[in-house]
Amino acid sequence: MVYFDNAATTQPLPCAAAAAVNAIENFGNPSSLHKLGLNASQIVSAARKSVAASLGVSENEIFFTSGATEADNTAVFGAAYSLGKRKKRIVTTTVEHPAIAEPMKVLESEGYEIVRISPRDGTFAAEDIISAVDDNTCLVSCMLCNNETGDILPIGRAFRQIKKRFPRVLTHCDMVQGYLKLPFKAKDLGADMISISGHKVHALKGIGALYIRKGVHIRGLVYGGGQERGFRSGTESVPLIAAFGAAVDKLYKNMDSRSTYVRSLSDYLRERIEQTEGLHLNSRADGSPYVNSIYVDGLRSEIMLHFLEEREIYVSSGSACSKGKKSSVLSEYGVPDRAADSTLRISFCAENTTAQIDELIDALKAAQSTLLSVK
Ligand code: PLP
Repeated sequence: MVYFDNAATTQPLPCAAAAAVNAIENFGNPSSLHKLGLNASQIVSAARKSVAASLGVSENEIFFTSGATEADNTAVFGAAYSLGKRKKRIVTTTVEHPAIAEPMKVLESEGYEIVRISPRDGTFAAEDIISAVDDNTCLVSCMLCNNETGDILPIGRAFRQIKKRFPRVLTHCDMVQGYLKLPFKAKDLGADMISISGHKVHALKGIGALYIRKGVHIRGLVYGGGQERGFRSGTESVPLIAAFGAAVDKLYKNMDSRSTYVRSLSDYLRERIEQTEGLHLNSRADGSPYVNSIYVDGLRSEIMLHFLEEREIYVSSGSACSKGKKSSVLSEYGVPDRAADSTLRISFCAENTTAQIDELIDALKAAQSTLLSVK
């Protein structure tokens, strides 16, 4: 099997699965005052410590959530409802994941002014984000790395300037596709809030976290028993949290060597695409090596996806979340409609190899000769 759909989800690491099983066996409720509760609470604390260390922040700035979708929603609604009584302007981009784009539409319908910045010539200019912010702005929310193209946004530069000019504006970064892949800590991003997801980093689905910088106060979305220091109620999913901590612990220590290796895979893929007639790149060379957007002349993504699937090669058509819906993100990045219809997302992890890329290219060539000749 060749799995090139790591931006959609990743295979859990054995250490993550083992940590989950251990937490299932230590099944106490972290809020219980007896020994079983204490064991569970220690598992949660250890995981929080790992996640905090990976972002270079303190443990009490990390709040576990059910995933990045909840972290994104919490940041956007929390900031808007806490600070937006008078300040109604929010700055974001046109290429955000639906976990940001949909909450923005809700706020727009409630009277907030949403300013959406577009890329220019295939990427973003920090100045475009900075100059959209004014005295009436409560929140700036921009992703670090685009999930469809791998484009890396100039978040550090933009957010630091914004905080200098407007210290009270809250900055939020959806870091999901950059976390444990690109060498950024919270302070490099200048973000007051950061969303991350477990299943994109070889942990399990249904767990994520929101980093909230000390001193920043926003309203939570989930009220109840007061878990997560009163910010996000609900009995903690100890097995998912344990798996998240174990994966993070393992991955963040060798992030640089993994990224260097994945860069060599991406360079190799780009070279092979450039050498092959009818294959083209959408992604820029300076984007994340983990997410590579390509297209095959004249062959629709869905057809290609199933052709590859028969050969046990798994890729995505554009973005997994768009489920066949036309992606406006690609057109924002200047990809023409015809190319967008034929786009495949090849997303790597450090377990992939150049031999697997050769297998993909051979399969794409086979598709060209069989499918294009029947057309
Ligand atoms: N943000 C980005 C950029 C993503 O790629 C994804 C998942 O595809 C999410 C948010 C949502 O993450 P989760 O699946 O943890 O809710």
